Amino acid sequence: MIDRLNPEQQAAVTLPPQHALVLAGAGSGKTRVLTTRMAWLIQTSQASPFGLLAVTFTNKSAREMLTRLTSLLPINTRGLWVGTFHGLCNRMLRAHYRDAGLIQTFQILDSADQLASIKRLLKGAGIDDEKYPPRDVQRFINGAKEQGERPSDIEAWDDHRRRLIEIYKLYQAQCERDGVVDFPELLLRSYELLQRNAPIREHYQRRFRHILVDEFQDTNALQYRWLILLSGGGASIFAVGDDDQSIYAFRGADVGNMADFQRDYARGTVIRLEQNYRSYGHILDSANALIAHNTSRLGKNLWTEQGAGEPVRVAEQPSDLLEARWVIDEIKALIHDGGLRSQIAVLYRSNAQSRVIEHALFSAGISYKVYGGLRFFERQEVKHALAYLRLMDNRNDDTSWLRVVNFPTRGIGARTLEQLADLAREHNISLCQAVPLMSGKGGGNLLKFAALIESMAHEAQVVSLPELIEHVIHHSGLRNYYQNEKEGAERLENLQELVNAATVFAAEENFEGLPAGRMIEQPVPATPPEVLGTDEPAELDAADVPIRALDDSGFAGAVLEQTMSPLAAFLSYASLEAGDNQAQAGQDAVQLMTVHAAKGLEFDAVFITGVEEGLFPHENSLLEPAGLEEERRLMYVAITRARERLYITLAQSRMLHGQTRYAMRSRFLDEIPQEHLKWLTPKAGLARDAATWGDDTGSGARSSAGGGAYRRGDAYNRPSSGTIAPRAPRSLTSGVTVGDQHFRIGQGVHHQKFGDGTIIGLSGSGQDAQAQIQFRDVGPKTLALGVAKLEVI
Ligand code: ATP
Ligand code: MG
Repeated sequence: MIDRLNPEQQAAVTLPPQHALVLAGAGSGKTRVLTTRMAWLIQTSQASPFGLLAVTFTNKSAREMLTRLTSLLPINTRGLWVGTFHGLCNRMLRAHYRDAGLIQTFQILDSADQLASIKRLLKGAGIDDEKYPPRDVQRFINGAKEQGERPSDIEAWDDHRRRLIEIYKLYQAQCERDGVVDFPELLLRSYELLQRNAPIREHYQRRFRHILVDEFQDTNALQYRWLILLSGGGASIFAVGDDDQSIYAFRGADVGNMADFQRDYARGTVIRLEQNYRSYGHILDSANALIAHNTSRLGKNLWTEQGAGEPVRVAEQPSDLLEARWVIDEIKALIHDGGLRSQIAVLYRSNAQSRVIEHALFSAGISYKVYGGLRFFERQEVKHALAYLRLMDNRNDDTSWLRVVNFPTRGIGARTLEQLADLAREHNISLCQAVPLMSGKGGGNLLKFAALIESMAHEAQVVSLPELIEHVIHHSGLRNYYQNEKEGAERLENLQELVNAATVFAAEENFEGLPAGRMIEQPVPATPPEVLGTDEPAELDAADVPIRALDDSGFAGAVLEQTMSPLAAFLSYASLEAGDNQAQAGQDAVQLMTVHAAKGLEFDAVFITGVEEGLFPHENSLLEPAGLEEERRLMYVAITRARERLYITLAQSRMLHGQTRYAMRSRFLDEIPQEHLKWLTPKAGLARDAATWGDDTGSGARSSAGGGAYRRGDAYNRPSSGTIAPRAPRSLTSGVTVGDQHFRIGQGVHHQKFGDGTIIGLSGSGQDAQAQIQFRDVGPKTLALGVAKLEVI
């Protein structure tokens, strides 16, 4: 397995046990090196499979890593500690829930549940949600947790902040009472557990001799500390990363961890890989040239032996709808030429862009799969069903309780629920616990609901997981409800899909025939045995060997898992997985995802859509240079996903969040040397420089073809019905009229306070019209045209 690597890669794979950093650009084989090192450590008996811990960034990449690993070594990967930070921390907390101060059946709050929980808290405590917008509160709490901070660790330098800290405290108390844990809490709890509990810490420190981290550039402060703590018993950390692909700073990731790790731990052992094995020359050179515009870089070179390949194809369309249709026509041609759908990816900067593309794919009858965005497990009907399931495990989960107490309707009104909430607050108990204190008709209906949950929980003790879900869908009234709803057919299908997902899950986890709710208890010894299985000979065919024989300390991976019931395991999975394991996973489908979600992946053909100023780079990022550099790294990630063919597309007008916006092409397109690009439509539409603007009063009639209100000039070739416009308008025709002034993109304007600038984006119309203006002295600003008193210059 080593022979197929280049000398630098081999050196990295076979390093002696010590901290090391592989710092290398996209497609240079970092992930391959990391996976091969795992296999090599096992094969050369330097580590037992259970002495390894590997962290990946997404569940998809964790699965991919396990697949790659089994292709190198015939081992049973069940029970291996390979996963995301969240997944691994969840696993640890399930095993040591008591020591972590949690209930055994704690539920995981996703981000939407967390927001709902915060809103409920603010309302209950009478806190003004205009002064403390729930989203800001959420960001504050998560930001603090990601830094490892509890309320008492945060400095309160003003009243506002003092209040936020109080809210954090209240929120945490509410979570404890509800028995729920949010995403950052998984990590912080696990960290605190390791830090405070010496036996547990020492156990894991002894157990994991090798810690391997992919996408190291995107770890946050707490994740970094978690890794360092775990390695405290002499384990070696093998980290791979690329500073040019650091794209999660907005979520607290700190690329500085790489420099710190290099300085404090890896010292001399930094390996660089420079040969790219993924992309053809034009693609790679485009990426290299683009990222060279960033100033803060550690600096790397990438080259390929693969030859230049095809230039990057660029197409500009009048509207987002036509852009989507154009993409779909290209996809059809690729499939016609024998391309695999699953080897075609459509990437976008913002989730909101996916709807139009999905619609076009759907109309064309091309199967596709969306990653991220609204995940399967986040769909309304699925969350309703999951809420019933969660309540079976934990009646005190108020968020779930409120979600379904009156869904489908059971005559439980808002007033009744308010009374109940008051009682619960007064006695500091959960809503469910407060039910017996209620009187009257509302109280009667509440009791009926509580009885329904109890009967479901009883059922859980006797039927299997998929059967239980069928039971819940039926007895909750969800099935009946959606059957009678006008557009309920798809929702019913999704509910059926949930049953299918549970069936597949139960089979994969060997839960078949087990009652869903039965807890499979494995006592966790108070003090772990002295020496854990790190030095037994590696057991390559672990599938034939009972896992306990490899490590019978009671801590072995598979044994830990069994401290959950099938139901609890499935609920964890639903909270943490992207839900892309559903039945259609095996199907050959076009892959749709945001650029963020595409990190680490590769495809034969990639479409990067919506490459427009304001969208990519995103307007929010334009306020500071660091923001723009992060967007550029994001574009670098997008480009380097492509193996053979890359498309970049843009639209002159686009419906986003209910408004038509006009934008010019992204600066990123101008940062790629033109010799690598092949414009498939005239590169004339929304030019960045003033010289090419045409007469914007053009005679073009308003067209509804794009759904938006773009206007076309004479040069626009009228599309024949059903086909795609072969040409973009030659002149810039988009603009906005406010009062007697007409504004258009690229126009020079003067503002009393901000000085001179250029309009780079327009949205809305009439009095709601807004312009994004790049001011010469003060940078970009978004102004309401109705009030900004701009002078056209
Ligand atoms: P990214 O930064 O995007 O995560 P990476 O550095 O992790 O990329 P890999 O995904 O490991 O890169 O590798 C990119 C592609 O190159 C993969 O298809 C991999 O199998 C292939 N590859 C890596 N090294 C070699 C090699 N020595 N010979 C042939 N193919 C290789
Ligand atoms: Mg990788």
